[in-house]
Amino acid sequence: MKQISVLKEREKQIFEKGSTGPFEMSCEKKSLAGAVSQRACVFCGSRVVLYPIANALHLIHGPIGCASYTWDIRGALSSGPQLHRMSFSTDLSETDIIYGGEKKLEAALVELIGQYRPKAAFIYCTCIVGIIGDDVDAVCKKVEGLTGIPVIPVHSEGFKGTKKDGYKAACDALFNLIRRPPAPVPLPRSINILGEFNIGGETWIIKRYYEAMGVRVVSVITGDGRVDEVTRAAGASLNVVQCSGSVTHLAKMMEKEYGIPYIRVSYFGIEDTSDALYQVASFFKESPDILEKTRCLVQKEVQKVLPFLDIVKKDLAGRKAALYVGGAFKAFSLIKALKTIGMDVVLAGSQTGTAEDYEILRQMCAPGTVILDDANPLELAKYVMEKDADLFIGGVKERPIAYKLGIGFCDHNHERKIPLAGFEGMINFAKEVHETVTSPVWDLVPRRALTTDKKDR
Ligand code: SF4
Repeated sequence: MKQISVLKEREKQIFEKGSTGPFEMSCEKKSLAGAVSQRACVFCGSRVVLYPIANALHLIHGPIGCASYTWDIRGALSSGPQLHRMSFSTDLSETDIIYGGEKKLEAALVELIGQYRPKAAFIYCTCIVGIIGDDVDAVCKKVEGLTGIPVIPVHSEGFKGTKKDGYKAACDALFNLIRRPPAPVPLPRSINILGEFNIGGETWIIKRYYEAMGVRVVSVITGDGRVDEVTRAAGASLNVVQCSGSVTHLAKMMEKEYGIPYIRVSYFGIEDTSDALYQVASFFKESPDILEKTRCLVQKEVQKVLPFLDIVKKDLAGRKAALYVGGAFKAFSLIKALKTIGMDVVLAGSQTGTAEDYEILRQMCAPGTVILDDANPLELAKYVMEKDADLFIGGVKERPIAYKLGIGFCDHNHERKIPLAGFEGMINFAKEVHETVTSPVWDLVPRRALTTDKKDR
């Protein structure tokens, strides 16, 4: 088998399944300096988790660039308020860096809370705030006293670690909100949906399934989120965690404090969506009607999806896909979903996977698949070309790599506007993959045109 070439410093983070040597992924560590990682920063990690809470004020304490970088960063829809889509910033400048930004932060908070009347405020700490040492907790406490709404610091100061540390900071901020009075009222047959961000309306699809099963959704953290719903979350019987990398920390804290168990699920692909719904139904085994309703729902929905998948499979069978995603849990679902439409995975990587995640990936992937952690654009481009992929699945930073190489692209990250979750999401996914992979435009790209010419001769 051909061995892929790897930079020495990255040797422990890139593997080709089936190559010689042990598979020991060195992950969950800071990015290699100068490698231009595809990862986002700590602050961005916390911002993406909290962003969909639509009736909260989100104030970024830092230079204006941090705010513009994450402005309207997700395709997370709200059925009501749109305050989350604003990107407020204290716009720290040189003078503030020298003399401190606490006064500016207090003034901005008082002004914004007076003007927009949010139900709570999240204050994001950025790189420079960690360096100059502003006492953001003290300012939040003071403004909370003045305004009477929860004013919550998000400790996502820069240089503190990886994007995953930003997720943790967001979870701590959410827990701060959940723990506030009044005490939770336990609700039977109820769940919280964690790690679902309502991209293109996905939360609404998932909520519909649970309603049809007779399960009550207390809160969604944080898709189409509201402050009041988050504060009621401790009353649920079960936490159903989707984006495990981002919110498992919160689920664990809630389990410890309130005794609420959690399960890990995915709503991507027919296999994993069905499994998620059945897992929840099994949890409420004292209510057999839930399981019966789940069976009916899954059967009905799968029957709607399968005929379309059979059509696209004819064109996609044997085509090759590369995928690079935030959390590895999403990669598992993608591999299964691609298999459903006949495609082979030749590259699978993530920004924040754990050693256990990569071991599962290794088991799921076919020999010859490149498996990598915390990649950079050069590595991705190189392996996509070496493996001759027809499709790249990723986010906004992977899209230009795919288009420059002249292959199809499917956005599976938070910027997209189309729902890919649930059974109807699988139809959207298959449709998008089919359209992009079979587009005749790729035959005109020089790299591909050469290959096509050679094949024709
Ligand atoms: S927090 Fe730091 S790394 Fe993140 S956008 Fe701001 S300056 Fe850049």
